[in-house]
Amino acid sequence: MLPSRYFVDLTQPEIAAQFKTNPLVILPAGSVEQHGPHLPTGTDTLAANVIGHAVAERMDGLVLPATPLGVTPMHMPFEGTITLTADTFMRVVIETCAATARHGAKYLLVLNWHEGNIPSLAIAAEALHREHGMTVLTVQACYVAEELYGGSCNGLTHGGEIEALAVLAHRDDLVHLDRIDYSSEHQHGHKMDRLRRTRAYQPVLTDIRSIAPTGWFGSPQRATVDKGRRMITDIADAIAQSATEIFAQLDAVQGGTAEVKRLRQVK
Ligand SMILES: [Zn+2]
Repeated sequence: MLPSRYFVDLTQPEIAAQFKTNPLVILPAGSVEQHGPHLPTGTDTLAANVIGHAVAERMDGLVLPATPLGVTPMHMPFEGTITLTADTFMRVVIETCAATARHGAKYLLVLNWHEGNIPSLAIAAEALHREHGMTVLTVQACYVAEELYGGSCNGLTHGGEIEALAVLAHRDDLVHLDRIDYSSEHQHGHKMDRLRRTRAYQPVLTDIRSIAPTGWFGSPQRATVDKGRRMITDIADAIAQSATEIFAQLDAVQGGTAEVKRLRQVK
């Protein structure tokens, strides 16, 4: 039994043994950005780590130490935001995961909670498969949360109830429901979120103020620790089940490392 699923909590022999038992690593991806007056700037990173750990327990994997930073030029108008460029973020992701591949990690689940990371993660995932032979699956955990809890939480909104629940589940001391203030208008926010979350069209927005002039919108007033813990459990159950099935499907149709090496030789 491992004392923790976080890579940085473990010793070298524990990690070496775990890679032999199950060569699965999970990379959480989030961001450091303003989340209104009531949530910490590390909300997305915290959510990705907490869900990543719960998924690692269910799938017998390890959670890699990811950079807390993400790609978030969207939020730079507000203090409390630190952004990496897409290129820097992509390189950190590739080099972090590639190091574990050298030590035997074969399966990589990238677990993302921040929409601004999606394009860079897609490029990194391709490189980690094609150049480093890993079997890679990326899950947009924030969208899984929206599927499961969007109905009861008034959608997935920046600084809204779903994000408050994700933090409440493990760090309720960082959530200040008594400071909820100046939410932007819901109707406009939802309209803009719909505009940017379609499959067919991807508009470029100047920054978060196009969606929420005050930087956030939502109604997290009724969020509780209990509901937060339930949400994390439900999201982790759903991701663990789907990821297990998808990894099995990938194994059935492609050879992973061996096939990539063969392709390289043919070329
Ligand atoms: Zn967020």
